[in-house]
Amino acid sequence: MTTAQPINLLNYDRTMMAALMTELGEKPFRATQVLQWVHQYGVTIDEMSNLSKSFRSRLSEIAVIQPPEIIHEQISSDGTCKWLMRIGEHDNIETVFIPEDDRGTLCVSSQVGCALNCTFCSTATQGFSRNLSVAEIIGQVYQAVRRLSKEDRRHDRQVTNVVMMGMGEPLLNMDSVVPAMNLMMDDFSYGLSKRRVTLSTSGVVPNMYRLREVSEAALAVSLHAPNDALRDELVPINKKHPLKELMALCREYFPENSRRRITFEYVMLDGINDQARHARELITLLQGVPSKVNLIPFNTFPGTRYQCTPRPVIEKFQKQLLAAGLNTTIRKTRGNDIDGACGQLVGRFADKTKRRERMLKKLDIKILNTQE
Ligand code: SAH
Repeated sequence: MTTAQPINLLNYDRTMMAALMTELGEKPFRATQVLQWVHQYGVTIDEMSNLSKSFRSRLSEIAVIQPPEIIHEQISSDGTCKWLMRIGEHDNIETVFIPEDDRGTLCVSSQVGCALNCTFCSTATQGFSRNLSVAEIIGQVYQAVRRLSKEDRRHDRQVTNVVMMGMGEPLLNMDSVVPAMNLMMDDFSYGLSKRRVTLSTSGVVPNMYRLREVSEAALAVSLHAPNDALRDELVPINKKHPLKELMALCREYFPENSRRRITFEYVMLDGINDQARHARELITLLQGVPSKVNLIPFNTFPGTRYQCTPRPVIEKFQKQLLAAGLNTTIRKTRGNDIDGACGQLVGRFADKTKRRERMLKKLDIKILNTQE
């Protein structure tokens, strides 16, 4: 006899939940009730008291609420929290919470590892394992919100913003990322405004067109270089979708009268992309694009070939952009003492396993896959 796998209620956004309710012979409006119980109150199926007893027991038979499990927590001296979460049997992902005076930002992963090979990013060194499910993405928010409210209920422990800037390229996992972002913005779940949920992409242009049709979330583009030659090197997907293609879309991504802007992320690499001529090229490139520029001090990691631009040079670069009328900020580096800063997320435990596999391969020792 085969027993069906229970469904995980964390995999359903509102539309999908309404379809599930209909399938189970319930009215679609039950969806909003279930979502509230799951995401806002964090109760078990049995505790969903406005559902009939018989429906609850039926739902318990077929469904579970299963977020990724927190297996390690680190808290930085500046209050930044980093969690290692276990997903499935073999994989781990990292989620980071950054408290600031006026907001609390959660940095969420969309894939285990990443396939894109940006040369300055430590996730790239891990290679790509797999896409995360909706439950594994929204489950990071679910867990963080619960973990933070356990500690205390001060304002600075609230998740007010989510950025899809953890491990992975979110636009190469749209099927899961879009429903998960829907839940972040749904009043019956996390209720964040569309300006407070940001998807960051390295520039997968065809999927940016698709995203625009299905989601109102804010957009950040990892630019990092003002010309194709340099961007080809730093962000290799540029070879497939060069700047001309990327910028043509960025120019008109948000409707003209919306006053919404794309954030362009630009990591500051010493002697590579931080010279006055790069700033000049960047100014030309962004002409007529509704934009904000966020300069990111490079966060170093073991084995990297780059160094961070010295602070005075970053400030000079910023001044040059500001003088040309570009809204430009410098990102505060947070959580550095726990490797929780941008580009430092590698899922360390998984990394060890990978290293071991590579070593065994080198020695030509076969790893027996017990699952086959
Ligand atoms: N794949 C997506 C989202 C993940 S990376 C993207 O490329 O946008 C999130 C941000 O962190 C990106 O802007 C990325 O370029 C930046 N980043 C990666 N490695 C970094 C490092 N070592 N130091 C500083 N920022 C880094």
